[in-house]
Amino acid sequence: MVITPATSRDILIVGGGLGGLAAATALSADGHRVRVLEGTKVFAEAGAGIRLPPNSTRLLQKWNIDFGEIKYCRAGSYHFRRWQDGSTIRIIPLHEAETLWGAPYLHVHRADLHTGLLKKALANGVQVVNNAKVVKYDFDAPSVTLEDGQVLTAELVLAADGIKSLARAQLFGNSIPPRDTGDVAYRILIRGEQMLKDAELAPLILQPGTTSWCGPEAHIVGYPIRAGELYNIVVCATRRPGECETDWVIQGDRADLMDRFKDWEPRIQKLCALADSFLKWRLHDLMPVPSWVHSASKVALLGDSCHPTLPYLSQGAAAAFEDAACLSQGLRRRSTIAAALSDYEAIRKPRASIIQAKSREHQELLHVEDGEFQRRRDMEMAMDRDSNPLFWGWADRRKWLFAHDAEAAESFVPLVTEDGAKPSSQRQASQRGFFSVQSLPITAQAVKL
Ligand SMILES: Cc1cc2nc3c(=O)[nH]c(=O)nc-3n(C[C@H](O)[C@H](O)[C@H](O)COP(=O)(O)OP(=O)(O)OC[C@H]3O[C@@H](n4cnc5c(N)ncnc54)[C@H](O)[C@@H]3O)c2cc1C
Repeated sequence: MVITPATSRDILIVGGGLGGLAAATALSADGHRVRVLEGTKVFAEAGAGIRLPPNSTRLLQKWNIDFGEIKYCRAGSYHFRRWQDGSTIRIIPLHEAETLWGAPYLHVHRADLHTGLLKKALANGVQVVNNAKVVKYDFDAPSVTLEDGQVLTAELVLAADGIKSLARAQLFGNSIPPRDTGDVAYRILIRGEQMLKDAELAPLILQPGTTSWCGPEAHIVGYPIRAGELYNIVVCATRRPGECETDWVIQGDRADLMDRFKDWEPRIQKLCALADSFLKWRLHDLMPVPSWVHSASKVALLGDSCHPTLPYLSQGAAAAFEDAACLSQGLRRRSTIAAALSDYEAIRKPRASIIQAKSREHQELLHVEDGEFQRRRDMEMAMDRDSNPLFWGWADRRKWLFAHDAEAAESFVPLVTEDGAKPSSQRQASQRGFFSVQSLPITAQAVKL
């Protein structure tokens, strides 16, 4: 049953990143009047790839994002390999994503996805304003003040202003700064045609899937995008002295890259040698934010502003899309903005917090030194069972992650009903312990290695 909102709301979204544009697309499709305020003069989505898991593509498809215009690669599998000889630790099949979880697993270029969302938002009538940096929030009005002094009001303000969120700082008095995780990500793009000339590298383009080479202090993730025109590499590594010390983003250097990974398997040597200009990013996440909604119930955080996560589960943008879907459902189903925002936080926060916590645990899991722990980790990683320390390593957790439909009625069960009771599906879920972070064993201690 399709429910349409009874009232069309006037909504301001601060930030035109993937999260802000997803919210603009979903809300405008429901007839709300939406304006997006983006601080930069021109959009500058990072020149890199992004993985779209089924819980993400399901929503993008529902919002009618034109995948005919986005050159994607369909992921066949997720292959975990050893760093030194490339031997297989585990292959997780993803080619049956549509049958198993109801939507495909895709790899795309970020800029293409951003353009797809922007086009759809504009076609839905969203007003997108660049060079509109917000410098102040009035959480009660609600209104925002731009750098040039203009004050803009609305019925609802969504702060999708990223990990360095001004809204979060003004809500909590700068008390929740981004947390330095100690890791850096090198984002590298290699032309597919260069790899096709090499018999060892060609399969990485011709058999699309994600490969993660796991080694001491680093794991290297690679997957093709743009229908194989490009191969996207994210080197996730422990930050070394001098790397991204003062700036969050710095230029990378091929000689350093080759030196750091000189002992890794031959394909890694070749990929490093093909890396041209690339950037290094210092990786941050956040301690759980006490609240995503201001007490006046007119301003809410969305996406990385409230739940930035290490990219190790490839779920950050997916989580922002789930936020957008949940909010649009709330405004459909509830008669007041306050009730919709209360549901939004109650429903979204537990799931997003689990994903944040589990992503963080993979930092330790994927970067272990060779030895007894690593051998036992690899043995567990090969088994499809609950003691597998990889989040995707067990079919039930893959289902929890990928089959989730943030727009579906069953995802929209408020945690507390009008009379204060927990609805039965939530009771069952918590009795199973399914939503508890502790119940999803990841660490060495929890797995009892
Ligand atoms: C290396 C890496 C790999 C990743 N891989 C994946 C992946 O494979 N799959 C996945 O789902 N996620 C992935 N992620 C996470 C994903 O990129 C982010 O979660 C997502 O882009 C966050 O979107 P956002 O819109 O919330 O924030 P942002 O993208 O940060 O957008 C915020 C926007 O707000 C604007 N802004 C900020 N302040 C103001 C202001 N005061 N006024 C106006 N505008 C403002 C900014 O200019 C920006 O455009 C990855 C992240 C990293 C670092």
